[in-house]
Amino acid sequence: MIVKTQAIVLRMIPFSETSRVVLWLTRDHGKIATIIKGAHRRRSPFVGQVDLFYTCELLVYLRLFRGLHVVKECSPLKPRTPLRSRWRATACASYFTELVARISPLYAPHPELFRLLDMALDYFADQSALELGLFWFELKLMKVMGLSPQLKECLVCHHPLQTDDRRQTTDDRREPALGAREASVFSCVRGGVLCKTCAPSAGKEALPITPDILGMLRFWQSSRSWRSAQSAACTPRQIRELERILGLFMQYHLEIGNPARATALSILRTRLVPTD
Ligand SMILES: [Zn+2]
Repeated sequence: MIVKTQAIVLRMIPFSETSRVVLWLTRDHGKIATIIKGAHRRRSPFVGQVDLFYTCELLVYLRLFRGLHVVKECSPLKPRTPLRSRWRATACASYFTELVARISPLYAPHPELFRLLDMALDYFADQSALELGLFWFELKLMKVMGLSPQLKECLVCHHPLQTDDRRQTTDDRREPALGAREASVFSCVRGGVLCKTCAPSAGKEALPITPDILGMLRFWQSSRSWRSAQSAACTPRQIRELERILGLFMQYHLEIGNPARATALSILRTRLVPTD
């Protein structure tokens, strides 16, 4: 059977002198591994048609050749040229595609995950607020995986939680939720926040969370556009806390160590020192 689908390049590996293996996240068939025969030949029709972070229109035989599907045709829809030269953006794109490659099972269509990755790569290619955008996309990734943290009420007593959210409308701030309690700790294991009264029942893994961080996470969780990440202004302390909470939460629920994340974040913070 031959199928046509949109697909994002997750990984590329040389296979023989002339062929290469490409791992894709497709919109309609989930993650698939393909071989592109003759990709390295000078006159190959695939030259310039496929590279890391591209979204392509893919025509592929869904039959296996040495465990791989064979690509018949491929044309780039979004080459995302800035990701070839902007190294901070490249680090974010590498981390995010690697993360998706690791958490996606083969042949499990997940159009929402496809849309999110496509949007994240567009974002990294074009925007400058990379760090906050990365956190925003991580939160959305947890959502499409069905693993959103509970941020509205205490996980134990179910009282609503207070936030220090300056983005709320004046009306919202005038009327705090009835019986709202102050947030105290974030539990990765339980998947959300506990109020001050219930915090002693949390395990040792629970991390302190302040109302401003809770407010930010809640605002991002309910927002549909990454513009809300760009509009945020975070202090270095807030960035450190967001990084820690989201990192540990993803590590626990996606069951993966995350060296690519640490690498991406350290590259983002690298400042080039002028030599002269
Ligand atoms: Zn409580």
